[in-house]
Amino acid sequence: MKGKVYLVGAGPGNQGLITTRGLELIQRADVLVYDRLAGSTLVAEAPQGCKKIYVGKQSSNHAMKQEDINQLLVDLAESYKTVVRLKGGDPYVFGRGGEEAIELYDNNIEFEVVPGITSPIGGLCYAGIPITHRDYASSFHVITGHLKDDNEEHDWDALARLNGTLVFLMGMANLNKIVNRLMENGKPSDTPVGIVHWASHPQQKVVEGTLENIVQEVEKSGVTSPSLIVVGQVVKLRKPLSFFERKPLQGKRIIVTRATKQSSTMVKRLHEKGGMAIALPMIEINDLKPIDSNRVLKQLNTYEYIVFTSVNGIRRFFEELHDAGLDARALMGPKIVCVGSPTKEALKKHGIIADLIPDRFVAEGILELLAPRLSSSDRVLIPRAKGARPLLIEELSKKCHVEEMQLYETVAAESDWSAYESMTDDIDFITFTSASTVRYFVEGSDKNKMTFKNAKYISIGPVTSEKMREYGMEVYKEAEVHTIDGMIETLEKCVKENGNEFNTSS
Ligand code: SAH
Repeated sequence: MKGKVYLVGAGPGNQGLITTRGLELIQRADVLVYDRLAGSTLVAEAPQGCKKIYVGKQSSNHAMKQEDINQLLVDLAESYKTVVRLKGGDPYVFGRGGEEAIELYDNNIEFEVVPGITSPIGGLCYAGIPITHRDYASSFHVITGHLKDDNEEHDWDALARLNGTLVFLMGMANLNKIVNRLMENGKPSDTPVGIVHWASHPQQKVVEGTLENIVQEVEKSGVTSPSLIVVGQVVKLRKPLSFFERKPLQGKRIIVTRATKQSSTMVKRLHEKGGMAIALPMIEINDLKPIDSNRVLKQLNTYEYIVFTSVNGIRRFFEELHDAGLDARALMGPKIVCVGSPTKEALKKHGIIADLIPDRFVAEGILELLAPRLSSSDRVLIPRAKGARPLLIEELSKKCHVEEMQLYETVAAESDWSAYESMTDDIDFITFTSASTVRYFVEGSDKNKMTFKNAKYISIGPVTSEKMREYGMEVYKEAEVHTIDGMIETLEKCVKENGNEFNTSS
């Protein structure tokens, strides 16, 4: 039985700009074929076990020839049920989607095409350039800057006479020629030109000028492909309309060191703020099964307090509870303590509202809260990580009976550091969310001989900061509220206060 091939438009690059149909297909793909413009965050949406094939193209430097891609799709449909071919923008706008689809048709392979937001429209929008405007452009024209045959020419006379917005794709190698032909054919030399590089991606950059000077401006900025070349009065409307560039973390490169499973929410939130989040997980979470789990869980009502100190601890506790054939009702008796807002929210999802939350989101905060309430006959249960700080258990044990349930452990992650070798100097921030991320970062950067010259280290809270100082790292800022949201707020403040000190995207 042959599979079905879906040609899916990814939109201009920003993760949110794909259609719901497109995303749904990626999320159930058996194999995903993608290229450079498709957006790495979308590729990450593919399910586990999905085979990912990169057929990237870098202008003339093709990683794979078009005929080979066509053949690849035909071959894949022989062995996979859902083949998703993800293409930047819209599959049919200079995307050679037509050729791929016809090849499939000729080979009797079922296919479906999912349109995408094409970059001349969506990319311009993210650069603050409306492609039409009642006062400035009553039409728009999307033109290739790179004709199939080098001797072939556009009708430059006709193009120069158009009053609408002209958008050239794949034109950077021919920029000089494009502007000269337009001027030679009568387009005024002061016509505004905008170059939009990596439109809608976190590293978006826009260069502005006129037909006369844009070539020099582009040289000065170092901007290359992929870029959109926009010619027309609408470029001048950019200032008030560039909402994307006004995002608080726009273009900042931020390394996230949390475990893969937990990094996605942080990565998403950073993207939301315009940041370029780079997941370089330092730790992984291993689930542990305590031998006497059942005994403890069957007598939860003998504890006065249960203290949850992490979201992972909560996840594991309820997994164990369910495995023991119990549910939230087993937690009727004891008072529930949790360390901060994420743990509170995690508990809520299990139908439990925490009774006590300390003012400070660290073990010391729990001690301050609990110590005055405890009597020597009390029993306290603490489900948490193996190897967590001993302080809480030690101090509480002085007051009453304390039992620890070790439900998971944190171990070093196998991360591919080499993928980031070329950008070490461009990293603006490295975020540390636990002492273990610090430890494995130091060990990993030593082993891989990597230094991040311009990076500022941001810590989630005092325990993490202490570990950083132990290793001689400078804590640039510690989050005021010791949560992921608190860290992101701190990052925003850093950028706001010292914006110019940091690299802007390049
Ligand atoms: N199918 C795509 C276009 C593919 S042709 C679409 O509908 O948008 C490739 C060219 O598109 C690039 O050379 C560049 O000129 C342009 N392009 C696509 N995405 C872009 C982006 N995010 N930023 C800038 N240019 C982009």
